[in-house]
Amino acid sequence: MSKVKYFDNAATTRLDEDLLPILKKYNVDNFYNPSALNRFSTQVALDIQKARERIANLIGAESREITFTSCGTEADNTAMFGALRGYRGNIVTSAAEHPAVYSAANFLKSKGVEVRYINLHNDGRANKESLSQLIDENTQYVSLMHVNNESGAINDIKTLCETTKKINPNCLFICDGVQAYGKIQVNVKNLNVDYYTASGHKINAPKGIGILCARNNVRFNPLIMGGGQESGLRSGTENIANIMAFARASQTIFDSMSNSSLKYNNIKNTMLEIVYENCNEFYVLAENDNCSPAILTLMFKDIKTEVLLHMVETEDFVFGTGSACSSSNKTGRVISALNVPNDYREGMVRISFDKYSTKEDAIEFALCLCKNVNNLRKTIRG
Ligand code: PLP
Repeated sequence: MSKVKYFDNAATTRLDEDLLPILKKYNVDNFYNPSALNRFSTQVALDIQKARERIANLIGAESREITFTSCGTEADNTAMFGALRGYRGNIVTSAAEHPAVYSAANFLKSKGVEVRYINLHNDGRANKESLSQLIDENTQYVSLMHVNNESGAINDIKTLCETTKKINPNCLFICDGVQAYGKIQVNVKNLNVDYYTASGHKINAPKGIGILCARNNVRFNPLIMGGGQESGLRSGTENIANIMAFARASQTIFDSMSNSSLKYNNIKNTMLEIVYENCNEFYVLAENDNCSPAILTLMFKDIKTEVLLHMVETEDFVFGTGSACSSSNKTGRVISALNVPNDYREGMVRISFDKYSTKEDAIEFALCLCKNVNNLRKTIRG
């Protein structure tokens, strides 16, 4: 069987097989309900506590500030709905947010909250001056992502948060950290955000686990009510196995972050050299200095990414298309927000790495990409 050479790790990552014993341990051996009073359950509850502390330590939070959720989307939704104080006033966000935030904002708009969209730089970063113009005394919160999932661009969250609080000290700041967590340095105390979110399946942990970190003693109304788990902030019997695996995966990825960054940048540069040599009429969406090392997004002129995707797929390569071309969304909302020239709009190739990415595969992929881009252009241009 041929080996898939996977470069869509911003969409999801392969599970780290070292986590399998943890998944077995907490699903088969120590399967107990942490809310029960028997000593086995109590031990499991203590293990969850340790996982919480471990994650909190990695991002400069207090363990009581971490709430486990089922995914990044739930964490983002919980922050956005839970932080809201009535359907009034306004919130500030951007048109480049992930649907987990963008759709929640649309829902709030339908309920009467004014949603203000910040201007963006061409790589997707939020414009600080625009933010200052949008915040007023009625702004309930700002919600901006740390790393853009399509371009890889890194928002300067510390400055954006500072700007927000300077204008309205009561305005809360929500940061969707799903693409940043484990890929770039994250210290929530230093960023001074009120809410920060992350997701397990982006860091080789299982799908179905995320966190919401709620800081500065901010409270939020729970989205899910029931048995009062997670201090009443997120009811539902805990997914212990996923929590424990997520904590371990977090430790692993934070411990190896500087080495991984070097490796990814090296792979990126090598790929870029190949593409510059073998292809023309393309550009890099976010420049290295402001970009997650784990993401490289190229925009190709006159290319339909979906066609390209299926062409390289025949050689077992997989890349990401972003919302430019997802099965349920053909409009390319983010791309439209980034002022991408018309003839480049449909040609987004998002390449994203994880610890299993190799330079050898990346070289092959870059060559395959160029070959197919050139062939495709020959066909359409004649
Ligand atoms: N936010 C961003 C920036 C993402 O990239 C994603 C997933 O792609 C999410 C939120 C949603 O996370 P999850 O898939 O865990 O619900």
